[in-house]
Amino acid sequence: MQNILEIKFKNIFVESFLGDHSLDSSSRETLGVLYAKINPTPVSGPVLLAWSSDLASELGMPFPKNPQELGLFAGNNLNPSMIPYSARYGGHQFGHWAGQLGDGRAITLGEIHLAEKKIYEIQLKGAGVTPYSRRGDGRAVLRSSLREFVMSEAMFYLNVPTTRALCLVTTGDDVVRDMFYNGRPEYEPGAIVTRIAPSFLRFGNFEILFAKGEIENLKKLTMWTIDRFYPQIYGDNFESKVFLFFKEVCEHSLLMVIEWLRVGFVHGVMNTDNMSILGLTIDYGPFSMMDQYQEDFTPNTTDLPGRRYAFIKQPSILFWNLQRLATALSGLVNAQNIFENYLANFEQNFLDQYYKMMSAKLGLRGQPSEEIINLVQLLKEVLVLGHFDMTLFFVKFKSAISEDKLEHKIKILQEASYLTICPEVGEKIKFFFNLYTSIVTNSHLQIKDIEQVMSKENPQFIPRNYLLHQCAQELERGDSSLLDRLMKALKNPYSEGLQKDDPDLLKLAPDWATRTPGCSTLSCSS
Ligand code: AMP
Ligand code: MG
Repeated sequence: MQNILEIKFKNIFVESFLGDHSLDSSSRETLGVLYAKINPTPVSGPVLLAWSSDLASELGMPFPKNPQELGLFAGNNLNPSMIPYSARYGGHQFGHWAGQLGDGRAITLGEIHLAEKKIYEIQLKGAGVTPYSRRGDGRAVLRSSLREFVMSEAMFYLNVPTTRALCLVTTGDDVVRDMFYNGRPEYEPGAIVTRIAPSFLRFGNFEILFAKGEIENLKKLTMWTIDRFYPQIYGDNFESKVFLFFKEVCEHSLLMVIEWLRVGFVHGVMNTDNMSILGLTIDYGPFSMMDQYQEDFTPNTTDLPGRRYAFIKQPSILFWNLQRLATALSGLVNAQNIFENYLANFEQNFLDQYYKMMSAKLGLRGQPSEEIINLVQLLKEVLVLGHFDMTLFFVKFKSAISEDKLEHKIKILQEASYLTICPEVGEKIKFFFNLYTSIVTNSHLQIKDIEQVMSKENPQFIPRNYLLHQCAQELERGDSSLLDRLMKALKNPYSEGLQKDDPDLLKLAPDWATRTPGCSTLSCSS
């Protein structure tokens, strides 16, 4: 295998669009262009903490064998075929237009070409200032980089559409952060994650062009995105292609959010600049996997007053974000109401897919009937009233269904609850089990088929926030054993073998975790 400094990278995005070629990192608006060329700022002492070997072999990326090669993942060395840049985008943040944002700390180095139209961008996050850094330093701290590295890889193996992470490097330079926004900033170790995706384009890349009246650029970007990433779109004319493109983005994004609800993921900052045009989970910041099932749970301290980005609001926020994308694309078509007409069916589409997904978590396949919708409603009540853990509930439920006695079933479910199940809740659970059993009996389903469906839908392992918190603390002390265990577990999150291999990773979140900042809630300060 060639070494990383000799591979020939592509620069298709840079070559396809207008850009700012000044290499000037000073903060500014870059009107009329889609990106600004910028080189990463070198760091003092890069150390490789983690390497995704499966992803690397898929990409044909050789393991860095010496400081020069490692330097590429720290921004210290460039491969001569690379033309690094930061993308210009805007976005709606917390419901308001925020103007130009752009990659304030992400720098795309180049593209890896695997086959015709199979291209992956390689991007450093935390690699130094760019024209879009505004007041930021362009850097990232170890705790947040570790979270992105582990979570994005975990999402991939959980079968949730996501950008990926190739490696995690500490920089040797400290970064100042006011983690709790309490006016007491502290030094934290800096780090860089190398991210991989077919494209990091967001809704915001389209929005900024519309907002600034750069319609030619918007048209070009839209056609390019369709051609590269949605080649199946076929339309007689430009307008119908734009409409079909919007429809695809809606479908991909909805699928992503359904998958978030399936595994209990809360993104935390669903601003339109954090919405991938490919329907990938992108920009892992103050996200969290949900421990106890709470529909209004938001991990983001900035989001606490309104809980705009709470777990159960994610589909309606997606809808809101899609309306913003529709507005941007309306700059390209005459019949503006085509987007609105399509979005009128969004809620029904969501509900159909949601009930299908939730019933599959209970081992039931097929189009949900009214009875199944009632069952899912009841399930949600049980989850809330029983103070159940989102993940463990379904793991234990699977063991409980083959038990004959209702008391035994409840005893098994108790292991998935953060409280002792009281008699009233016990009655609710019995009612739920009775309905479940009658549905199963009437539909002539075999227990083994139900169990098979449940095993595919319900993970055993999720990277809980407290585990990521502990892992970051241990890494700061130079201990990578928990990281190694997490990386092993996340590759087979549905495997029942994990119960034997590393049962401690599968437990309920400990009591202390709910009280410790950084475990339960997180700030955007990363
Ligand atoms: P986020 O909330 O992380 O999606 O970031 C919103 C905007 O702030 C994006 O334009 C980021 O690139 C930018 N940003 C976040 N953190 C930093 C940082 N440390 N330095 C520079 N820009 C940043
Ligand atoms: Mg972002």
